[in-house]
Amino acid sequence: MERFDVVIVGAGTGGCTAAKTAASAGLNVCLIDCKSEREIGNKVCGDAIGRHHFDTLGLKYPSGDELERKILGVKVYSPDTHSIFRVVGEGLHGFIVNRHSFGQRLLKEALDANVTLIDNTFVSKPIINGGFVRGVEAINVKSGEKIRVESEAVIDASGMSAAIRSKLPPESGIETNVDKTDLIACYREIRRLKSELEDGDFCRIYLNLEVAPGGYYWIFPERGEKVNVGLGVIATPESPNPKRQLYKYVLSSPLFEDSILIHKGGGLVPTRRPLSSIVWNGVIFIGDAACHVNPIHGGGMGPSMIGGRIAGETLTEAMEKGDLGVESLWNANVRYMSSYGAKQAGLDVFRIFLQGLDNEDLNYGMKYRLLREEDVLHVSMGEDVKLNITEATRRVFVGFGKLPLLKKLIKMVSISREVKSLYKDYPKEPRDFPSWKEKVKQIFENAKRSIG
Ligand SMILES: Cc1cc2nc3c(=O)[nH]c(=O)nc-3n(C[C@H](O)[C@H](O)[C@H](O)COP(=O)(O)OP(=O)(O)OC[C@H]3O[C@@H](n4cnc5c(N)ncnc54)[C@H](O)[C@@H]3O)c2cc1C
Repeated sequence: MERFDVVIVGAGTGGCTAAKTAASAGLNVCLIDCKSEREIGNKVCGDAIGRHHFDTLGLKYPSGDELERKILGVKVYSPDTHSIFRVVGEGLHGFIVNRHSFGQRLLKEALDANVTLIDNTFVSKPIINGGFVRGVEAINVKSGEKIRVESEAVIDASGMSAAIRSKLPPESGIETNVDKTDLIACYREIRRLKSELEDGDFCRIYLNLEVAPGGYYWIFPERGEKVNVGLGVIATPESPNPKRQLYKYVLSSPLFEDSILIHKGGGLVPTRRPLSSIVWNGVIFIGDAACHVNPIHGGGMGPSMIGGRIAGETLTEAMEKGDLGVESLWNANVRYMSSYGAKQAGLDVFRIFLQGLDNEDLNYGMKYRLLREEDVLHVSMGEDVKLNITEATRRVFVGFGKLPLLKKLIKMVSISREVKSLYKDYPKEPRDFPSWKEKVKQIFENAKRSIG
């Protein structure tokens, strides 16, 4: 088989974007996926994506078959459902996409840029030569034939399976495992209701830590009477089964009476700060394989494409220099952290705080608007958390014995700011990385102890 400049493992949103970027810059790119060409893009997902990602990446907005619904905002429900935050604003305009059609579009754009696709092929491990990743070993899932695909460099865009990252040697210093407390296990269905959802321009998110411990459940409107309904829980052994919870608490409600099941499935989402480094010699990780997901709402399509663009461009520059070592690829780290990673890391502190609350805290917090609706919007767009604690609120919270909650909230805001500025100040050179990583470790250990 010919030798490629770049092998990309996984033709999801991240991999297709990386492939198109690198191939459009003239690199000889091979894209490998275990799915068949026609099945690529068919992934269990909430299907929601912000319009701003399309603007940032210069992507055409979804239309026709690809577009299920345009979205104007999000409604967030408190556990007792007495408080509803209706969060609207340009920043939350978005789309519910038909995930399969959207994935097929991204694949077509990559193939149109001259990418070679090897489908039905499962990548088992990296080829490592002289301390550099130089291709992959794989197996055809239909014929069982084993193949080696050699290249100058590899991009791991294989999603949660992290086919390359998880198999790197210890001397790479790369985090090969992700802690279960940083994963959300989800189950979701697409259903047709008897009638169209009211307020159908809004995604609905329900916070309830007894029904969905560490996560939430959602109802997102799709085309006509169709909805995307799912539930996610923290992926620790003590957590309940998300499918059982969805059936018991959500699908049993009158809204779903006589609804028709169209599609079902589950999956894991890494809802944490990004991996502290996404590069090693001859390799870059992106998307879920690099924990590039918004820790609060679990949206990962947009950041995976941002990572894909950055990886494709970084490899192109490195190939021009003829140097694919860590130092040469380091810019991918710097660029990701400044474009999305710092926001993600700040929100990870918020996620740790939210997971440490109980339903009563959430009910009080939302009832007394400790965060205002417009501030929720700003936070979701990456701005610092701004609290709305008046003297009257303080008195109410003291009266209810909830002063510790207020103190924790204030502490969370200050840790979140500290983390964000640390990530914005990401080391420009690998030699400054160990001390930066140690600081991050300490801040997050402190966060888990004091606000989690
Ligand atoms: C239930 C659920 C709901 C979600 N809701 C949303 C949402 O509403 N909005 C949002 O933006 N994000 C959502 N996400 C997250 C989002 O789906 C992911 O973050 C995003 O798809 C990541 O893109 P990716 O390219 O990194 O990986 P993926 O899209 O997972 O693509 C990985 C590709 O690699 C292939 N692959 C894997 N292993 C191998 C291997 N060993 N060899 C060859 N090929 C391999 C797979 O077949 C796949 O095509 C949700 C996730 C889940 C599970």
